[in-house]
Amino acid sequence: MKNKIKNSCINEFDPTALSIENAKNRILKTIKSSTKVEKIKLKNSLGRIVSKDIRSSINIPSFKNSAMDGYALNISHLSDKNNMSLKEVGISYAGKPYHNNLKKGETVRVMTGAVIPNNSNAIVMKEMIRIIDKNIQFPKNIKKNQNIRFIGEDIKKSSIILKKGKKINYIDLGILSSAGIECVDVIKKPVISFFSTGDELISIKKKLKKGQIYDSNRYLLYGLLSELPVSIKDMGVVKDNKNNITKKFIQCSKISDLIITTGGVSVGDADYIREVLDEIGKINFWKISIKPGRPLAYGKIKKTSFFGLPGNPVSTVITFQLFVIPAIEKMMSSEIKNKLFINAITKTNLSKKKGRVEYKRAFLTQTKNKVFVETTGLQGSNILTSLAKANCYIKLSANINKVKKGDIVKVLPFTNNL
Ligand code: AMP
Ligand code: MG
Repeated sequence: MKNKIKNSCINEFDPTALSIENAKNRILKTIKSSTKVEKIKLKNSLGRIVSKDIRSSINIPSFKNSAMDGYALNISHLSDKNNMSLKEVGISYAGKPYHNNLKKGETVRVMTGAVIPNNSNAIVMKEMIRIIDKNIQFPKNIKKNQNIRFIGEDIKKSSIILKKGKKINYIDLGILSSAGIECVDVIKKPVISFFSTGDELISIKKKLKKGQIYDSNRYLLYGLLSELPVSIKDMGVVKDNKNNITKKFIQCSKISDLIITTGGVSVGDADYIREVLDEIGKINFWKISIKPGRPLAYGKIKKTSFFGLPGNPVSTVITFQLFVIPAIEKMMSSEIKNKLFINAITKTNLSKKKGRVEYKRAFLTQTKNKVFVETTGLQGSNILTSLAKANCYIKLSANINKVKKGDIVKVLPFTNNL
């Protein structure tokens, strides 16, 4: 068994390695979307996935109101060009309407958001009028309906305000609350457990001995998973020992929908992940034509999916972003976002070996009408600092081996939160 799966992963043109698209398709094909839902308070719903379309039971705005602090009038009352003044007869505040109909010769002072009086059809902003002896002098050229907010102009009653599969963000919290929605139906959080493997790994509380390193992957995974609507179970570190790895996998598979491990998935003498998975589960594939991140085991232990991610921290991050996130999105039937690549001019020559798609850590900058990109330093898959400095990946396709300074490259920007 061991010989069967211990094949080489040295050749850049490895015919058994899957393309990124193939690997992703194979992952998505095996993942079932969850049907487990729960009702939660709006306040707790940030980041969660909506499980069915949500409709508004009201129009928004639900009444005609003023977009300005100003004066409400009916423009037909100003038909005499020589007399552009009306008498102020009352005030409509936001939340405290003026109840009478507007009569000929009258105007009502209105605040932003206040109900406009019946029979009014325009609002003139406060700054545009003059007050002469309690009479309001209006400017010329007032247009019908100016500065009026109409019923349902933002949201129509019964229309869908949030689609099934939408991840609730702060804007959605605003929309849902404006529609008076107190509770929302969301997909239950899937349970995701993860552990690191490696004899060299020690906890950050301990002092390093020669040859040891601190376990950074578990913190990376904790951070990456914390941004998703999932339940996280940190299952610690496991030594490179077949029995221990087997026990941990079985323990995790009983309590999780998905298991993520890092390290021990390649062809080294202490790499047991694939061997164990081959015995207790089913490996779907373990090699992808990508750099960094080629050895990545994917498969199932009974109904639980697993990802054996590579040990090098940058590989862990990239493979998580490219493969684990879409898998989790499918699991929760959330909308799959198409990644937006942009074209940028490389400021330096770039080189790579032919055979694998390569993601380089880089920094995008913009001048008036051009977008430039530059790598952020050493590109080894152990170099986390160049990822920290990056705001994008440059994606170089498999058949490329050189890019000249000034050429256009495809760039995947990291999320650009305002
Ligand atoms: P492996 O895939 O187990 O051969 O590990 C590849 C490289 O990643 C080695 O240099 C490991 O020491 C390193 N590595 C593995 N796991 C971790 C971890 N949890 N944190 C930081 N580095 C790791
Ligand atoms: Mg290892």
